[in-house]
Amino acid sequence: MRSFSYDALPMRVRFGAGSVSALAGEVARLGLRRVLVLCSPEQTGTGELIAETLGELSAGVHAEARMHVPVEVARRARERAVELGADGCVAVGGGSAVGLGKAIALEHGLPVVAVPTTYAGSEMTPVWGLTEDGRKRTGRDPRVLPAAVVYDPELTVGLPVGVTVTSGLNAIAHAVEALYAPDASPIISLMAQEGIRALTGALPTLVDHSTDLDARTEALYGAWLCGACLGATTMSLHHKLCHALGGTLDLPHAPTHAVVLPHALAYNQHAAPQAAAAIGRAIDSADPARGLWDLAGRLGAPRALVDLGMAEADIDRIAEQVVANPYANPAPVTADGVAALLRAAWAGEPPG
Ligand code: NAD
Repeated sequence: MRSFSYDALPMRVRFGAGSVSALAGEVARLGLRRVLVLCSPEQTGTGELIAETLGELSAGVHAEARMHVPVEVARRARERAVELGADGCVAVGGGSAVGLGKAIALEHGLPVVAVPTTYAGSEMTPVWGLTEDGRKRTGRDPRVLPAAVVYDPELTVGLPVGVTVTSGLNAIAHAVEALYAPDASPIISLMAQEGIRALTGALPTLVDHSTDLDARTEALYGAWLCGACLGATTMSLHHKLCHALGGTLDLPHAPTHAVVLPHALAYNQHAAPQAAAAIGRAIDSADPARGLWDLAGRLGAPRALVDLGMAEADIDRIAEQVVANPYANPAPVTADGVAALLRAAWAGEPPG
């Protein structure tokens, strides 16, 4: 076994159906008395329910979270937190709500309690992001890592099937890249394999029975593990590509991950045979890149960047961006290689 280092991140997790009933206790346990509830406008109802659950511990609901945390959205939320005298935030929703909590924590140091309702995994990471003039800045700061996370699968039962699938594949991408990360460790590799196994097992059931609570529970458990992988390791080519496609072309976050993942894995799997074998075991496939592409097809996930609105003319622009400033990656990142990858992903061809 290679030598490795592993940082356990300091946070508490409550997991299980109905665990949102323990939220007030978790907030009080942190010594918080007036928390601002954050959510996306589409989840105002859920935000209000959470505020009701919190009773006197709630300072109010701020339902303005948006994808990629625009700076003006962050500024308004910080002002609202100050106005209401909040001493912490409860972020309920997907990566957008959690990201807004992180933006407040970054500036004012208010602790975040996350109640995730998608599989994006932001609640498990000390990574923040802010978008200004179409450019997304990201960074790591221990202050933005949620102090507690309450995973209640009952809150995910209403997640639309399309978002369930793409968000689940987004989570799997974190685990895939953790397995060949430069700072991989056996602990995180265990979480990665288990996370991939749990999600690839649950997603097909959820496509046919989106309210199946056992499958929702298994998927959220998998998403937790995959998010922990994202928080603990350095991501590679797949995340770099998605960052460029999302940041420059404004392609939707989770569907972009879903399309790119099999192609990024095909690019890397020969240079990372141990990781490929682990992914293969988790999804029961001798060719994991092809296995993930087939799975995406069975789940009805998007498989072509053209279907997400990308123009063919943008392939070379994105390839240049990725090659100019690549992340660490098992296979060498070349202009021709990345352009070929993007061309196949754009057209919806099998990875290869
Ligand atoms: P999202 O949070 O924008 O949610 C997508 C939509 O689904 C929203 O309209 C939301 O209101 C709705 N929704 C969420 N849960 C629902 C539910 N249970 N039922 C019905 N509707 C529901 O999308 P996301 O994919 O979760 O997060 C994407 C964002 O998170 C991006 O900005 C991405 O960059 C960020 N992210 C950050 C990290 C990190 O570590 N910092 C990690 C992953 C993602």
